[in-house]
Amino acid sequence: MATMITSECINCGACEPECPNNAISQGEELYVIDPLLCTECVGFHDYEACAAVCPVDCCVTDPNNVEGEEALIGRAKAIHQDIQFGDTFESRFRKGDKPAPAAAKKPAAQPQGEPAAATAATAESAAPAAVERLEDESIEPPLPPADSWSIPLRCYKCNESFDFPVGRFMVGNVLWCPHCHKSMVVRDNVNYQIRTLLKDFYEGWEKDETEFRARRERELREFREKRAKELRDFENRRRQGLEKIKARFAELGDNYDAPGRPAKKGSFAWG
Ligand code: SF4
Ligand code: SF4
Repeated sequence: MATMITSECINCGACEPECPNNAISQGEELYVIDPLLCTECVGFHDYEACAAVCPVDCCVTDPNNVEGEEALIGRAKAIHQDIQFGDTFESRFRKGDKPAPAAAKKPAAQPQGEPAAATAATAESAAPAAVERLEDESIEPPLPPADSWSIPLRCYKCNESFDFPVGRFMVGNVLWCPHCHKSMVVRDNVNYQIRTLLKDFYEGWEKDETEFRARRERELREFREKRAKELRDFENRRRQGLEKIKARFAELGDNYDAPGRPAKKGSFAWG
């Protein structure tokens, strides 16, 4: 039973990055799930990750597309051929069981010359974002301080490379190659380029985040207003229902032909 997104979707986009299969994308009007990629998170979680983060609970199981665990784990294996799922994979069909170990990535071939620590860090950063992130609204990754950047340089004499902090890239400054100790002077105005680059980047980063947060605020406000209106309409329907039944009872009382009630003059009485 693949998961589907209903028309209640407010396009907040929270579900998209949570999907381990990249099955979610923005459709013409709302976010949509590709049923050929959705595994109901079988293989990764014992719950549907999109449903877990959706603020309006509009990621629901599709009653018209029923699939069993076997089909779903088969799909997960076909999509992620680099993952060994084993027999104790996570699955919503096994909810309540002792938690199964997370799916293990097959070790990737170590790139030549790349330190093992760097590869481990990459795998960690690719882990699915925690559901709790939605609560505190923290946005990853953080922006490094402007003076923490460095520029990779290659020494023209020994051809070795080394990192040089951007803050020291000033016209007239002497750079020393840490390998052969050859000195180089910063002649052109690279400093200006670096500062412009950093300024544009930091401003763009801020602007992007401000717009992103404003959009989320607006959508949440609209969503709350919609929910409040739905509640008011629902309450009004209930009031009308109560009025209606009261009116029906009043009508019944008015027309009730109680035993012993004198017959209206001229009317015909049986018996
Ligand atoms: S249920 Fe899981 S696999 Fe399916 S769309 Fe949602 S997050 Fe993706
Ligand atoms: S989390 Fe829910 S409301 Fe937000 S885009 Fe996904 S389906 Fe739509």
